[in-house]
Amino acid sequence: MEPAVPQPQTFDRVLSSMCTRPHPAARAAAERFLATNPGDPETYRSVAGLEQDVVDRLGEVTGLDSPHGYVASGGTEANIQAMRAARNRTEAADPNVVAPESVHFSFQKAAEVLGVDLRITPVDTDRRADPDAMADVVDADTALIVGIAGTTEYGRVDPIPALADLAADADALLHVDAAWGGFALPFTDHEWNFSHAAVDTMTIDPHKLGQAAVPAGGFLAREGATMDALAVETPYLESTSQATLTGTRSGAGVASAAAALDELWPAGYRQAYERAQANAEWVAAALTDRGFDVIDPVLPLVAVDLPEPLFDALTERGWRLARTARGELRIVCMPHVTREMLTAFVRDLDDCRSA
Ligand code: PLP
Repeated sequence: MEPAVPQPQTFDRVLSSMCTRPHPAARAAAERFLATNPGDPETYRSVAGLEQDVVDRLGEVTGLDSPHGYVASGGTEANIQAMRAARNRTEAADPNVVAPESVHFSFQKAAEVLGVDLRITPVDTDRRADPDAMADVVDADTALIVGIAGTTEYGRVDPIPALADLAADADALLHVDAAWGGFALPFTDHEWNFSHAAVDTMTIDPHKLGQAAVPAGGFLAREGATMDALAVETPYLESTSQATLTGTRSGAGVASAAAALDELWPAGYRQAYERAQANAEWVAAALTDRGFDVIDPVLPLVAVDLPEPLFDALTERGWRLARTARGELRIVCMPHVTREMLTAFVRDLDDCRSA
């Protein structure tokens, strides 16, 4: 008998992931460009052209004319690069970075790798960055202020205009981590993007709400000087310098991001956001009706206080679920999460409660 071919996880019961099923055009493009390496752009020219298209399009999504940047392996790499650029550009001898406690754990990795002091401050009562608390720890050595536009745990959007003022006063750079929220926020009233002159860099990941195949993260910079601060010479390649963190990297991710943006920006992303937000509000209401403590979905992400035995029972029924650091269940309404799925989830929840 032939050995079984390993199959990937299906998305049928996945409520925990910030990635999703790629758009069919993104999947096809990823397959076409599997054997290309945008890390060597003179040799692999067509994928290098696609990468420039992606950066230009991400500039449109985030309100940045003449954007600089590249398609990273994900939000982690883009966040590390933002911190690295700030460290390389500052004149401070002992640079520090100031971020709210809601910051993604990739910043801890970045701080450790780069030897930078990461100063974490409390959030406000709505789980958003508190600019006053951040101002308290900013000093002359602060190289970077970080705000999050769509936090990992609660989908909150930090007050970017106030953080922009803080960064300008401190003569520090400002990085906005919109890794997850970046493809939903253009269709909301939140102030989050490069229209604030003080925003220097941004993370926005096509492989999350952008519906591209993994790996496709996005790193954007307002100034070419930021890319220069990241570049090293590359003697053995046809090109002469490289600003990315990884060397050889996936052309599949780049091509799939280009295809997804081609297909979906802006109407398809708007439709996906509106559907996801409606789903999040629907499930939030269904859980509230059942007496659970629900944290309202600002973006399509619902957190709910669910007793551990129920969480375990639902996991046993095949639901892929994740918790916040405080223990709430998170339901991330990604494009693969349909109303039917959520209805089945709530039915299972009712079943488990009455069992
Ligand atoms: N930033 C935010 C806000 C995230 O939610 C995530 C992941 O969920 C990341 C960064 C890290 O992204 P990745 O897992 O693609 O490295």
